[in-house]
Formats: sequence, C-alpha cells, structure tokens
Amino acid sequence: MAKIGGLWFLLLGIAMIWFSLFIQSKNDSAKMSLFIIVGSVFIMIGTFKLIKKIILKDIKTPVQNQQRSQNQSQQQNPFQRQQPQIIRCPNCGARNYATNPFCSYCKMRFR
Ligand SMILES: [Zn+2]
Repeated sequence: MAKIGGLWFLLLGIAMIWFSLFIQSKNDSAKMSLFIIVGSVFIMIGTFKLIKKIILKDIKTPVQNQQRSQNQSQQQNPFQRQQPQIIRCPNCGARNYATNPFCSYCKMRFR
C-alpha cells in the first residue's frame, strides 16, 4: 500500500476514466460505466492519500516540537532537584525543608 503513492492512484483513475470514455465514444454498445466508477474510486483514493500525506506532514512537525520541549523540561528537572524542597507544616503552616524530620517551629513530626 505504501509503495503506491496517492499521485499514482490519481493518474491511474484519470487514465481509466479517459480510456473508458474514449472506448465508449467509439462504440456506444460498450458498457464502460463500471470502469468509470472504478476510475473515480481510484481518483478518490488518490486524493485521500495525498490529503492524508499532507495532513501527516503537518502533524509530524508539532510532534517534533513537543519532543524538543519535553527534552528541555527533562534537562531543567535536575536543576529543580538540586534546589531543596520546601514543604508546609500541616500543623502551623510554617515553611520547612522536606529533609527536616520535624517542624522547626512547632516541632511536629512529619514522618
Ligand atoms: Zn509546624
């Protein structure tokens, strides 16, 4: 499926319709309506594939940007880890370092 591009479907469909119309103009008894239907289906598939290709290209670029931003945030994380975490005491609301086993103001145990 991937080997046959949307453009080839489009060209094949146009060629099929053109060919069937050409035969029908030469011979009225020839029933080429099926070929015209198949040709139009081919054109539909071709246009669909081309549109899908264009949409996928449009989608791929923001995804790459997202991956870049994720990498940037991951690079920023070590800096955040280096900074001491500050937690609020559930008893008095005083700010304490997360490494403290108990509150430095009211001496309430955190763990
Ligand atoms: Zn406290």
